[in-house]
Amino acid sequence: MKTGKENSTSPKLPVSVLAATGSVGQRFVQLLDNHPWFTVSALTGSDRSVGRLYGEACHWVLPEPMPAWARQMVVEPTLPEAVTAPIAFSALPAGLACEIEPRFARAGVVVCSNASALRREPDIPILLPEVNADHVRLVERQRRERGWTGCIVTNPNCTSTGLTVVLKALQNAFGLRRAIVVSMQAISGAGYPGVASLDILDNVIPNIDGEEAKVEWEPRKMLGEMQADELRPADVLISAHTNRVAVSDGHMVCVSVELGTPASVEEAGRVLSAYQAPQISGQLPSAPHPVILLRDEPDRPQPRLDRHAGRGMTTVVGRLRADPIFHLKFVVLSHNTIRGAAGGSIYNAELLVNMGIVESSTHSG
Ligand code: NAP
Repeated sequence: MKTGKENSTSPKLPVSVLAATGSVGQRFVQLLDNHPWFTVSALTGSDRSVGRLYGEACHWVLPEPMPAWARQMVVEPTLPEAVTAPIAFSALPAGLACEIEPRFARAGVVVCSNASALRREPDIPILLPEVNADHVRLVERQRRERGWTGCIVTNPNCTSTGLTVVLKALQNAFGLRRAIVVSMQAISGAGYPGVASLDILDNVIPNIDGEEAKVEWEPRKMLGEMQADELRPADVLISAHTNRVAVSDGHMVCVSVELGTPASVEEAGRVLSAYQAPQISGQLPSAPHPVILLRDEPDRPQPRLDRHAGRGMTTVVGRLRADPIFHLKFVVLSHNTIRGAAGGSIYNAELLVNMGIVESSTHSG
């Protein structure tokens, strides 16, 4: 196993960003600027963008400036033979990801995907390094059964992300039976240009296609246990309501939980504040510090004030109190395009490098 220190003095690893012009793709470009381990060698897009300069093809919507190196790069086609980096960060739409990502994995590329397409595959982990780093073991099975020299690792849906970090801390300490969750999800979660302004301004839309099923299922996979090379989902029941609200970035989730054994608000607060990532993940460049930030003001967290905690990687919890039906209730906030998408994927890639998974891939593109 390598350490972060060794990596910081090694030459940087080339990486590509697939679908680099969209909402998540732009976040990858911004977060990879000056990354200590990775350097971007290719940016891809659809036929609309291929052959154009990224600075012209991309309608940049982030407050941080587009990095100068990215502006001058020519957008490549999304093909393994056009992109030679050993790691690909994928921000592809789900319908394309299920076709394109396996081609990269077959060609020896380690694909860190944001798409939902392959999250339910039993040999493909949904990874949060501060929660389930041990699920990386599924990569061995994936390679053996599919004959890939690369692999695919996904990160969860952006609403499942912060929720699962908090549920993991509670599960470890008290056990976990059931949860009812109600999301208020930012507009950027719908990509660019996303929801029409006339639909979302002065409004709440009480449906996000496919989202409730993801939020009810993905945490169970991530909270599950590895038994040999099988992943057994956790026996936790989740009921989700998902809503789109007029916030630019930052998904908020109101949660009520039934624990395995009851816990006081004070005990639960101590557990959440003290939660640490597994040792192998805790000191990686994108690791959140702290993993969970517990706020005690009666009106926090708020997306505009708290989404950048821990450079957008920290999960913020507030309004922790007793629940009259279950045991506890609280609010979770997580930055959807950073912790819930590009930042999470980069954190996953750092973990895979640390565990030797990237070294053992052989790219033939
Ligand atoms: P988006 O803003 O709509 O961007 C779509 C991207 O896909 C663009 O870069 C587009 O490239 C590219 N694309 C479309 N057709 C393509 C093709 N045939 N070949 C190659 N590239 C193609 O979407 P997004 O929000 O970035 O979402 C990207 C993925 O991340 C989705 O799977 C989404 O579900 C997931 N995700 C999003 C969030 C979030 O908060 N937004 C969070 C977690 C996961 P051109 O511009 O060149 O057409």
